[in-house]
Amino acid sequence: MLVEHIWTANDYRNFNYLIACPDTGEALAIDPLDHVKCLARAKEKGWTIRQILNTHEHGDHTGGNGPVIAATGAKLLAHKNAKSRIPGIDRGLSAGDVIKVGRSVELECLDTPGHTMSHICLLSRTDQPGLFCGDTLFNAGAGNCHSGGHPESLYATFATQLAKLPDATRVYPGHDYIANNLRFTLDREPDNKAAALLLKDAEKQDSNHPIVTTLGREKEFNTFFRLHSPSVIKRLREAFPDLPEKPDPKTVFLKLRELRNKW
Ligand SMILES: [Zn+2]
Ligand SMILES: [Zn+2]
Repeated sequence: MLVEHIWTANDYRNFNYLIACPDTGEALAIDPLDHVKCLARAKEKGWTIRQILNTHEHGDHTGGNGPVIAATGAKLLAHKNAKSRIPGIDRGLSAGDVIKVGRSVELECLDTPGHTMSHICLLSRTDQPGLFCGDTLFNAGAGNCHSGGHPESLYATFATQLAKLPDATRVYPGHDYIANNLRFTLDREPDNKAAALLLKDAEKQDSNHPIVTTLGREKEFNTFFRLHSPSVIKRLREAFPDLPEKPDPKTVFLKLRELRNKW
């Protein structure tokens, strides 16, 4: 599996991706908002974009569909329940569906509601898996839920799906928010050494060649995976004095999401 990160350098800080089969050069474009850059990169690599995957229905993920389809004739894939919100879907996706790219690449669809209720993440079936996670999981953060999502569903997605994937899974999110998210981690957990260390690199990162984390590393500095951390809970009880001494992980997640909305 070949992966190209495409940094849009727009205000929303979107990442687009191309995934290609090394044998055939056939490619899948994930959320190709910056269609000019995506098409140029495919050309440069000698790849043919045959499919587009929209992780979810927001305009900063679907906005490049038209031009990429016009240029390549690619088929459009998205969550089966997004059909009323994304025009022109050729294939509606459900949990467990497999997307083939060329001869050698297989990507499994995870149904990951929370940021929106029709959000797909892709998990590659490779020796070291890769997770293309749209706006569900960010480096050191989690998607917001105020444009058609639900925080309780996002918690369920984190707890029952993402947290159970192998620690070696590489994380490919839909936006570059790493530095700001690490600052939130340090606000919530000032003694998190992994976050402090990574922030130094994140602050000077070239988003054309971004830091790629793994789920195992995310568990060290992503507050939304650190629901049992005594310092996270201690700080949270300062903000929410009514919280019990040992709050359940779902309550911790929801309170962190609430604080992040205003942070
Ligand atoms: Zn979104
Ligand atoms: Zn987005």
